[in-house]
Amino acid sequence: MQSNQNAPFTVLIVGGGIGGLTLAHFVRKAGWRAQVIEKRPLAEMLSGPGGIFIQLNGLSALRQLDEGRLAEALYAQGGSVLAGGFHREDGSPLYLNDPEFVGRQDLGVCISRADLQQLLYRDLGPEVVFPGSGLAHFEQDEGGVRVQLEDGTVLSGDMLVGADGLWSRVRTILEERARPAAPEYSGYCCWRGLFSVPDRQILPENSSWAEYWGFGLRFGWFHVGGDRYSFYAFKNTEQGGADEGSSLAGLRTLFGDYAAPVPAILDALEGETIYRDDICDRPPIKGPWGKGRATLIGDAAHPVQPNIGQGACQAIEDGFELVQALRAGMTAGQTVAEALRAIEEQRSKRVTRVFKVSRQVGELAQSDTRWGVFARNQLYRLMPNWLGDLQFRWLFDYEAEWRSDKLLPKA
Ligand SMILES: Cc1cc2nc3c(=O)[nH]c(=O)nc-3n(C[C@H](O)[C@H](O)[C@H](O)COP(=O)(O)OP(=O)(O)OC[C@H]3O[C@@H](n4cnc5c(N)ncnc54)[C@H](O)[C@@H]3O)c2cc1C
Repeated sequence: MQSNQNAPFTVLIVGGGIGGLTLAHFVRKAGWRAQVIEKRPLAEMLSGPGGIFIQLNGLSALRQLDEGRLAEALYAQGGSVLAGGFHREDGSPLYLNDPEFVGRQDLGVCISRADLQQLLYRDLGPEVVFPGSGLAHFEQDEGGVRVQLEDGTVLSGDMLVGADGLWSRVRTILEERARPAAPEYSGYCCWRGLFSVPDRQILPENSSWAEYWGFGLRFGWFHVGGDRYSFYAFKNTEQGGADEGSSLAGLRTLFGDYAAPVPAILDALEGETIYRDDICDRPPIKGPWGKGRATLIGDAAHPVQPNIGQGACQAIEDGFELVQALRAGMTAGQTVAEALRAIEEQRSKRVTRVFKVSRQVGELAQSDTRWGVFARNQLYRLMPNWLGDLQFRWLFDYEAEWRSDKLLPKA
């Protein structure tokens, strides 16, 4: 690998979301320079709709940072994933889960997106993250990469990572398109947001999350730390729909007769911001998805439906594995391009599996026919817990381990 002798190896990262900011941390841990280009203003970058599950696999990678302190900060700010489950709309249980079933204290952490973004940004700051202007173009040659931002700024580096989400500009340029290709619509939209409940009052004891499944409808809640909770609701509908009038009024019509605590959560949402989005994914690219010194991570490479809470976790894994592959490649005498193609090939297998399972769970959970709902409910009701847990073992058994320089393969 070639790099300018006088400057540290520089990784230009497009996108200051969960994937891009986490990657910047791993790049710096490797002793390199990270520069994050983010199109949104800083305040917007540090916000986000509702909360998010960071599960054991994502946490395993985050634990490699700052001697575990970043992961600890997530736990301090957020809520541990404890017992929870899927229920019918009348509240009867379909599938219950508990960390005890797999001999763990918890199954990860839930945190508001704003808190997560702020924790990830905290140790990076303005020296690393450049908000307020998006990537316009980039070009590369054997010596490196040059990017031009929408405000005319030009930056140079040794490689470029597109962590710029579902509508990735980097991916569009790599695919030599004028505009991004349209993602695939799932058939359902999502509402989400945060709400407060003092002393858990309306929520069941001993659980930190729950989902309620109806006909083409789903409602879920989870604890994101302190008195704060996040909700989400899915509905089968046409793409591009918008709420007529208040979103909360629409949610009351759809979910107002669901079992407790759903109606009380709807009351707690009074005055809170509710976001609505269409849910989309893209079938993963088989094999390498980058070119030369440019690659993609997270939703830019492999956006998935949110049904198993893995999109951001995979983006975090991507960043960790990318830096490991580059470090190993550098000591083994590979070019940047060779190391990038190898890691893309490797990641493609795992994210393809996540994509497929996310779609399968979505199809079951969003069933909207009498027979489909009956079959789904029977399947989940009769499935033993151990089988449900086994289904996801391949995800949570992921162990990130930062290899010491001495253990990297030499050329
Ligand atoms: C309803 C819902 C619930 C979800 N729940 C979970 C969950 O519980 N757990 C989980 O792991 N995942 C979850 N996900 C998925 C998760 O949100 C995404 O996979 C994750 O945010 C992807 O991170 P990213 O950094 O790749 O992309 P993004 O978060 O999309 O970040 C991309 C960034 O790039 C910036 N950008 C875009 N274009 C440009 C440009 N031209 N120049 C510069 N910057 C640019 C954007 O402003 C943005 O900041 C959920 C998704 C949805 C929709």
